[in-house]
Amino acid sequence: MNLTDKVIIVTGGAQGIGLAIAERCAVAGASVAIWDLRADAIEAAVDQVRAKAPGVEVAGYAVDVSDLASVQAAAKATREHFGRVNGLVNNAGVVADAQLTKMSEAQWDRVIDINLKGVFNCASANVDALLATAGAMVNISSIVGLSGNFGQTNYAAAKAGVLAMTKTWTRELGRKGVRCNAVCPGFVNTHIVKDIPAPVVEEMLNMIPQRRMGQPSEIASAVVFLLSDEASYINGATLEVAGGLTL
Ligand code: NAD
Repeated sequence: MNLTDKVIIVTGGAQGIGLAIAERCAVAGASVAIWDLRADAIEAAVDQVRAKAPGVEVAGYAVDVSDLASVQAAAKATREHFGRVNGLVNNAGVVADAQLTKMSEAQWDRVIDINLKGVFNCASANVDALLATAGAMVNISSIVGLSGNFGQTNYAAAKAGVLAMTKTWTRELGRKGVRCNAVCPGFVNTHIVKDIPAPVVEEMLNMIPQRRMGQPSEIASAVVFLLSDEASYINGATLEVAGGLTL
């Protein structure tokens, strides 16, 4: 897949799925702007992406996606540096799990602020730039946004909201040439799943027809496809990349 001449923003790009997406975009020829909260990790991520795709332009920006002013500043800096934006991948996300009987307002607010409002903030701050290039947006939701999950009221609500926003923006922006799609990863081997107890991991693996976790690169392949011109008539879609978990 070819992303030559495209400038792609990847939020939460300093590690995990976001870093894999940044790498795959760069390998496909795109210039990449890595946005992440963790200023300490951004430089290493930029170096890693450059090493994978020598000659491709990569820059990092410290940004909190839940803070509109921070997002607007990063959007401005990205446009000034790269001159345009052809793709936005809303990937940054966190978990703060608890059952309904135990979930605090702080847990609810944190996940909604980052996983739901953060996607709105990044989309609104970049929509003019995407309209200018007839670009593409890919929003990382989750299978939890389709089916809910034990202990994840906040996360499920946010990820379902991401799917609803994706379809809404498809309707609003489609006629102007911007495509919006969502990817729902299943159970992917990253930092976010590291605290899941071994018996629960075992139980989840038993529900996956492929009987294994996904790798970040396997999510990244789907995202690069949706960003590319190969997906020129795919719009408003929800693509599960979950090894069949939802069956
Ligand atoms: P991760 O924790 O490895 O990476 C998340 C990244 O987001 C980190 O680099 C972190 O610094 C960044 N981030 C967190 N808060 C931020 C903020 N306020 N502003 C900017 N950046 C911020 O997680 P991951 O597993 O790579 O998850 C990436 C996305 O995939 C998330 O949206 C997650 O919900 C989704 N997802 C993951 C899985 C999985 O099994 N790993 C499954 C379904 C969906």
